[in-house]
Amino acid sequence: MAEVLLGFGANLGDPIAAIEAALRRLAAEGVRITARSHFYRTPAWGKADQPDFVNLCAAGSTTLSPRGLLDVIQSVEAALGRERRERWGPRVIDIDILTYGDHAFDEPGLTIPHPHLTERAFVLAPLLDIAPDRVIAGRRVRDWAAGVDRGGIERIG
Ligand code: ADP
Ligand code: MG
Repeated sequence: MAEVLLGFGANLGDPIAAIEAALRRLAAEGVRITARSHFYRTPAWGKADQPDFVNLCAAGSTTLSPRGLLDVIQSVEAALGRERRERWGPRVIDIDILTYGDHAFDEPGLTIPHPHLTERAFVLAPLLDIAPDRVIAGRRVRDWAAGVDRGGIERIG
């Protein structure tokens, strides 16, 4: 059994409904959700000419392998209507594996801890709700969060 942290984001359609649906589908496919953050409205990152995002982080436990979890996540994204278009473009749902236990992986198509999480306020803000003292890449989440600009991020639920 592995403890995992997952990041969710959406900015098309009904983002909150999409994230709720993703959590339910993951639970049905072998990821027991043990904690979830508030929802946050966050400015789009990377490509700014698109709607704000809604973000949430969740903790879970699973017997799935890292690859198995990635497969499940991608099938849930597809089931919810995710189309892979431009990088960092608008999406109905994005689910990222932030951490998988204390393991580090760097393989084609799978890097854990997620390489950008320590610099992304839209991940760190919700992660602070559920794992402030979790050490990722050598520092606590709260210390990473203190180093990013969380301006423009609003808790919405
Ligand atoms: P992004 O999340 O960076 O905006 P995508 O969701 O389109 O982009 O993901 C692109 C690829 O990232 C996926 O095909 C997946 O193989 C890869 N990837 C690498 N590491 C991870 C991870 N930790 N969690 C989720 N996807 C990952
Ligand atoms: Mg992704």
